[in-house]
Amino acid sequence: MSDGPLILWFRRDLRLADHPMLTAAVQAGRAVVPVVILDPQTEAQGAAALWRWGLAVAAFDKALAALGVRLTLRRGAALTVLRGLVAETGASGVWWTRLYDPVSRERDEAVKTALLADGVEARSFAGHLLHEPWEVQTGEGGFYKVFTPFWRAVRQLPVRDVLPTPTALRAGPLVPGDDLAEWHLERRMQRGAAIVLPFQHVGEAAAQARLAAFLNDRLAQYAEGRDYLARDASSGLSENLTYGEISPVQIWHEGWRALQDGAAGAETFLKELVWREFAWALTFHTPQLTTTHWREAWNDFPWRADNADAEAWRRGMTGEPVVDAAMRQMFVTGTMHNRARMIAASYLTKHLLTDWRVGQAWFAKCLTDWDPASNALGWQWVAGSGPDAAPYFRIFNPATQGEKFDPDGRYRARWLNPASPDAKAFFDAVPRAWALAPSPYPQRLIALDQGRARALDALAQRKA
Ligand code: FAD
Repeated sequence: MSDGPLILWFRRDLRLADHPMLTAAVQAGRAVVPVVILDPQTEAQGAAALWRWGLAVAAFDKALAALGVRLTLRRGAALTVLRGLVAETGASGVWWTRLYDPVSRERDEAVKTALLADGVEARSFAGHLLHEPWEVQTGEGGFYKVFTPFWRAVRQLPVRDVLPTPTALRAGPLVPGDDLAEWHLERRMQRGAAIVLPFQHVGEAAAQARLAAFLNDRLAQYAEGRDYLARDASSGLSENLTYGEISPVQIWHEGWRALQDGAAGAETFLKELVWREFAWALTFHTPQLTTTHWREAWNDFPWRADNADAEAWRRGMTGEPVVDAAMRQMFVTGTMHNRARMIAASYLTKHLLTDWRVGQAWFAKCLTDWDPASNALGWQWVAGSGPDAAPYFRIFNPATQGEKFDPDGRYRARWLNPASPDAKAFFDAVPRAWALAPSPYPQRLIALDQGRARALDALAQRKA
């Protein structure tokens, strides 16, 4: 293999700081051709996540331009595009940062095999996680299926140092590429990108500012405040982690430093970050987590397939105030409070007895922090079908959850009161075909005790 330029294939690692692949390219002193590919696998993700990825790509292009290199955008099957670029640039290598979901792994393995057969150096790097999924092992060399021992193991593992941000890159040959605007990533969003845009924190600088603000202003109240629906108590970093605009290694070190300094909330925050690792490790070791009941015993559970109640749930019109507020929050902002995710998911899978995959698919379509591993684990955890799941009989009561975690009703009012600007934004955003009106507010789809009893009956029948 010669010392030709390197094609750097960026996917969900759209940052300069703490980037193992970039550091290696700088150390090798090789010219680089950075590329982003809109391939069928990337295009198959949900509309909001795809659009938000496009925003991350635009921000990253600017960051690279400041270092003297340009990002080339191409559309097509990844291998075809990469082979074309190798031919056009005389590149001798293609590098990328590893992803661990089954769709990306299948693609990347095929790309690697084909490029190596062509005589091209094909190399992948860490960068998406704190630890590679195979590095966190039980004493017997297996993988963890329960969070607490996983957390204890991760807490003991050394985390590599944060890598320096490159100040310059050697530019390889310039090649033509697409204009991002030609991809029209905003068009698939039913609710209009303009509605969701003000709620996004796009790019590396925004991610860094978010982390700093969180550590300075909110970490101390995090453990106690994170469950309150109307409080802005958490970091919001899931959006940036999804596109690799910030590295989990950097977040870990800063959280760890705060822990050593005795900051309240730091341990809880690090633990949450490790839930993301846990989701990815499980997705790597048991890829079926993203598509089927992780516990096979659930295969005969009488879930309802998609249905009219689930449609009311998607539209934020179940008549259950906290659930509707949560669904509207996601539709307008692209995100949903963590506790609200649990309440909305529990309501769909328990009170409406609907298959968790119906909810998983809607979240995948609407979330701008969509993460295939955390979304799947979150749904299976709530449904009771996953590893280390909440017991099925633990059914969130949305009314009492609302009283407890939205005691002054601010969260509900923000999304349900027709006079609230955000509630108005929701009705402006929904497709006309939904024919929704802010009032009258709908009757409950099902009485809560009746829904609960039906869910427990279904469980009893399955066991019988
Ligand atoms: P913080 O509280 O500030 O936590 C810091 C980081 O830890 C987060 O950015 C995130 O990366 C990680 N984290 C926190 N909680 C969890 C968790 N329960 N599971 C995994 N990682 C966690 N998270 C996503 O990133 N994408 C998803 O698509 C997603 N879907 C979910 C679906 C359901 C049904 C449920 C119950 C949870 C889902 N989560 C998902 C997890 C969690 O709700 C979000 O990570 C969290 O709300 C993000 O807000 P934050 O960045 O302010 O988190």
